[in-house]
Amino acid sequence: MTYDLTNRTAVVTGAASGIGEETALLLARSGAKVALLARRADRLADLAAKITAEGGRALAVAADVTADLSEAAATIRDAFGRVDLLVNNAGVMLANPITEGRSDEWSRMIDTNISGLLNVTRVFTEDLVAAGVDGPADLVNISSIGAHLTFPNYAVYTATKAAVTHLSANLRTEFGPLGVRVTTVEPGLTGTELGTHMDNPEVDAHLARWLAAVEPLAAADLADAVAYATSRARHVNLSHLVVQPTAQV
Ligand code: NDP
Repeated sequence: MTYDLTNRTAVVTGAASGIGEETALLLARSGAKVALLARRADRLADLAAKITAEGGRALAVAADVTADLSEAAATIRDAFGRVDLLVNNAGVMLANPITEGRSDEWSRMIDTNISGLLNVTRVFTEDLVAAGVDGPADLVNISSIGAHLTFPNYAVYTATKAAVTHLSANLRTEFGPLGVRVTTVEPGLTGTELGTHMDNPEVDAHLARWLAAVEPLAAADLADAVAYATSRARHVNLSHLVVQPTAQV
């Protein structure tokens, strides 16, 4: 299913895989021009080629969300003009008992999931606010149901997602009056690469049991939620979407 996003210009972070990849694809299929942002240039090039082959418009921009993004933003504006739809999706999930003291993992998650999200938002704020004056403008932040849950080993990851949810709700109080919708999306278990970067076999086994216990969402299910929310009439803001596998409780 596609939606009407004709004349929209989108940026999707973390578009190299998973939810970001499927979201970029669906936004493009729905008529938006889509800038694809992540670190793996080869994956972005493949996705851009796929979208272009389907008749859509996509631009691969290899960049790290924690770095200076002024050049990436200029490249996007040169190619596609003003951005009116930003999906802050890039994220990393690492898990270990807190007693392991893995400050390397804590920093990566805080830098990517919180500071990176702010960094990307900052660089496109002017675009969104200008677009919101007389047309639709969207800031979509991908958080997690983990923002509200407590379980062992994921304390820092879930804390970063609690920060994203709270930040997003507060940004809405500033952006809403300026005509910019803010949508927080909290996915439940979704079958992607997210859990493949961990280095603790016990934590891996635990995650595998979770994934086996329920039929997880597909990344395309989240893409559908994002495209649906951003294609509503301009005065309608679906501000908080919790999307869970039916069997996950
Ligand atoms: P993936 O690992 O498939 O996607 C994460 C994406 O983020 C990758 O494309 C990766 O690309 C990109 N990324 C990571 N670090 C950076 C960085 N520093 N700069 C730019 N891009 C970066 O997992 P998901 O699709 O599942 O994750 C997407 C979002 O959904 C995340 O924010 C995650 O927390 C959230 N989420 C996922 C759930 C799940 O069960 N899968 C549940 C709840 C929330 P590259 O490595 O090329 O940079």
